[in-house]
Amino acid sequence: MSRTVWRTGAMLATSAWLGYWACSGWAHEGHDHGPARRRTGSTAALDLEGLKKFHGHLGPYLILGARAVELATQGLGVPATRLSAVVSCHLNSPERCMADAVQFCSDATYGRGRIAVLRSAVPRMHFVDQETGDTAVLVLTDKARALLARLPGYSGPGTDSDQKIEALAREAATMSAAELWQCRVLRLSDR
Ligand SMILES: [Zn+2]
Repeated sequence: MSRTVWRTGAMLATSAWLGYWACSGWAHEGHDHGPARRRTGSTAALDLEGLKKFHGHLGPYLILGARAVELATQGLGVPATRLSAVVSCHLNSPERCMADAVQFCSDATYGRGRIAVLRSAVPRMHFVDQETGDTAVLVLTDKARALLARLPGYSGPGTDSDQKIEALAREAATMSAAELWQCRVLRLSDR
């Protein structure tokens, strides 16, 4: 799809939806989706050891949090220092591990009052550009859900389950942000 067609379609769709000015389409997996796909198709190296040290262990939800920040910054076109975040998920481990990855990878931290974790049956993320109010909404891809379905129950540090969980995290880290999340950007600013 050409950039022009993609942008026009997205803007029309979003003008009707909630009255927002502009919006990117969902970056569906498995196809070339023009600028969204090109912007988000990287498999940039993540600081896995830094994430592990910060959070205490390495699991796929940490990778999801880190990739979500990456996709939001690309979709919104702003650095991670401008983000605030709402992490919606089950309020227990391992899903809320995502919140630590968001804090590690952005300025959306608890101490700055720029992150909230809300109860949700389905994991999703909202990132808001502090300056414009533009918002990126992220939901998991089928590929991410399939990977998470292989997550074993956690039996404690150093156990077989711990090693399997870390292996799944390292597998997830080989996937691009757009393979793990679908992203829609709601623009409040006209730019
Ligand atoms: Zn964790």
